[in-house]
Amino acid sequence: MCRHLGYLGPAVSLSSLLFDPPQGLLRQTFAPKDMRQGGTVNVDGFGVGWRTDGETVRYRRAVPMWIDHGFAAVAASTRSDVVLAAVRSATIGMPICDDACAPFTEGPWLFSHNGRVGGWPESVAGLAAELPTVDLMTLDAPTDSALIWALVRHRLRAGVDPADAVAEVARAIGAVAPDSRLNFLLTDGRMLVATTWWHSLSVLKTEDSVVLASEPWDDDPQWTTLGDHLLVTATLDPAPDVRVTELGPIAE
Ligand code: GLN
Repeated sequence: MCRHLGYLGPAVSLSSLLFDPPQGLLRQTFAPKDMRQGGTVNVDGFGVGWRTDGETVRYRRAVPMWIDHGFAAVAASTRSDVVLAAVRSATIGMPICDDACAPFTEGPWLFSHNGRVGGWPESVAGLAAELPTVDLMTLDAPTDSALIWALVRHRLRAGVDPADAVAEVARAIGAVAPDSRLNFLLTDGRMLVATTWWHSLSVLKTEDSVVLASEPWDDDPQWTTLGDHLLVTATLDPAPDVRVTELGPIAE
């Protein structure tokens, strides 16, 4: 269900990350390789966030990625050193609209969720209640992913470290909805943070870049496939570095 990708490194064109690789996000739209019973294709929409002149830009549409020729032209001519992109397979019962597509964003943050919340929405009503009413009333969409973003964002706004914010929300949801699938991906423009919780994730670290992706985009042997229930942090400074720790016990 859904596929996502985060990139940090020298500025490259969006199409070199999304369209050009043989098993890139475009191909994962209609021929993903590792969906793990979570659907077969990712044609309910797509979204891409990147940075231009220090500003975060986000584009998303509820159409299969290959249909949007206008975006393909933008992607070929847009370069960025930070990219977070996703293609969506809507969970049954959830709306198909632009605003339900990742990435969700505020300021420099870009966020994606690959998976679903088990027992939605009753299972997480208690967690939702911790949010200010205005946050609940202005969710991007009535979806599990939009609520998860609001929970993560609430912590980021309070100054919580991005990795802690993501881990805390994953554990809290896992505690009340254990059959959830919670692969998260977040960037603040300087680091990538991801969780693995049921769905796949791979890492490609080169001399000057790092990619976290649901699936390797080619057969380069440098791709490493990660295990489950992990917290992954990737930074570039002073050199590309990827840290992987256990996500740890779920919240009481
Ligand atoms: N449950 C989320 C949605 O419907 C994410 C879907 C997915 O990962 N396939 O938007």
